[in-house]
Amino acid sequence: MTTSAVSRPLAAFVNEPVADFSKPENQRAAQAALAKIQAELGREYELWIAGARHKTGDFLDSVNPARPAEIVGRHHKASAALATQAIEDAHAYFPTYSRTPVEKRVEMAARVAAIIRERKFEFDAWLVTEAGKTWPEADADVSEAIDFCDYYARQMQRMANPEPLVQMPGERDEMVYLPLGAGVIIPPWNFPLAIMTGMSVAALVAGNTIVIKPSSETPTIAAKFAEVLLAAGFPARSFNLCTGSGSVVGDLLVEHPKGRFISFTGSRDVGLRINELAAKPRKGQIWIKRVVAEMGGKDAIIVDREADVESAATGVVQSAYGYQGQKCSACSRAIVDEKVYDEFLEKVRQKVAAITMGAPEKSENYMGPVISASAKKTILNYIETGKREGRLIAGGDSGPGDGYFVQPTVIADVDSKARIFQEEIFGPVLAVTKARDFDHALQLANDTEYGLTGAVYTKNPEKIRRAREEFFVGNLYINRKCTGAMVGAHPFGGFNMSGTDSKAGGPDYLLQFLQPKSIGEKVL
Ligand code: NAP
Repeated sequence: MTTSAVSRPLAAFVNEPVADFSKPENQRAAQAALAKIQAELGREYELWIAGARHKTGDFLDSVNPARPAEIVGRHHKASAALATQAIEDAHAYFPTYSRTPVEKRVEMAARVAAIIRERKFEFDAWLVTEAGKTWPEADADVSEAIDFCDYYARQMQRMANPEPLVQMPGERDEMVYLPLGAGVIIPPWNFPLAIMTGMSVAALVAGNTIVIKPSSETPTIAAKFAEVLLAAGFPARSFNLCTGSGSVVGDLLVEHPKGRFISFTGSRDVGLRINELAAKPRKGQIWIKRVVAEMGGKDAIIVDREADVESAATGVVQSAYGYQGQKCSACSRAIVDEKVYDEFLEKVRQKVAAITMGAPEKSENYMGPVISASAKKTILNYIETGKREGRLIAGGDSGPGDGYFVQPTVIADVDSKARIFQEEIFGPVLAVTKARDFDHALQLANDTEYGLTGAVYTKNPEKIRRAREEFFVGNLYINRKCTGAMVGAHPFGGFNMSGTDSKAGGPDYLLQFLQPKSIGEKVL
């Protein structure tokens, strides 16, 4: 159990460096990896349930969003019976797996990091092809996956050696951390490797068994990750890969009485639904399910009159259009002091005009496609709404070709009551709003039901102090962009409708997957 202390602490955690794709050797390695995975496109992938492969003949095909005719992987979809078997077997195997010594679990988590590191360019290539990421964005995702494994391995060593308690006279008093049981891991497609790896490895290293229900947009990356878990030594029955549609197998997994916890990252509506379904005890259920739900954002950057406007415009453009604005941390609202509003808008317009868009495997492109036809349609609908709600400055249409491309779009003079100011669009659309002064800017920034990331550009220390206190977000950045949280440095999670604020990549995260037990023993 988790009580066994770890004898050899791992070396201090260091973030995995992101590859520099301006170096010819990295460009060559990337192209070689792309050629390797292209030979595998269209391959069939089986389910992994109760320690064995399963086929159903009912397929989910994932496509390359830059060239939708290209099938990336054909995935057998779980039936309701298989999903039930997955969660029941995870429950049945939990007592065995949870007794795996903590040193062994830590070693396996660190080995996942090592294997992904060895195959980094190959994973990059899968992310470029299935998720439409450019090479730098893909490599940041893969590096973050490595970081999560290395970081949680170290955090588990710490949890296994807890702080000593106050000792009552004549007693030995201690608190140990036990795993919870069988859990369901439901990741999104936008960090298809990092978030899935982080949630899964955190649960496993803490001693839980899991059922992974990957996103239907990125099942191939999930299948590759499952291979890594096995190669790293995780027992065949410690995890299940239950590919299938959220609405078919998702509800079933969430409601099953043998599921002890649900770790979800995704949209607000799905997260709230999961929270509601999981709250109702089912026949045979003897616990309150724990739900960790990390959800959407409507993230704002405040540009104050005392800001370096050039640096603010760069930060806003990077935060708004990196990975096509499909980051929960993406800046979708720029709130700009009226004194620098026109200057800022002009700088943003010029920077957006210089953005290149196209096939993400070509290094000259800064932006690739959005994830799917339905995402593209939703984003374009929001753009049409935005044209009525504000003044179009840049973009406003789909991009060239058959892929799911949407132009980087800027809409100015947006009122705080406008839909594009309030609703998460999850695409390359930036709303710009004028603020009378810093007070007004803070008020506008907080005028949302979300509270994930935010940034402030100002040189004024008093305004920085106020932002630290009054800007109500889980991840605040000062004089820098609001995307790019680093494991260990920027524990991640939001307030209000952005979720349960579990702070992924932070020192408290493993507590989501553990329950402390206090033991007071009278010394005889
Ligand atoms: P989504 O539509 O909510 O889907 C997330 C996951 O939930 C997918 O695996 C999906 O499976 C599954 N799902 C859908 N319906 C379900 C149900 N009834 N029961 C159980 N699972 C169900 O979100 P997404 O489009 O993948 O991701 C984008 C969203 O995630 C954005 O809102 C973004 O802000 C948020 N996000 C938040 C964070 C954070 O840390 N706060 C990080 C990344 C992304 P299917 O694909 O099969 O439907």
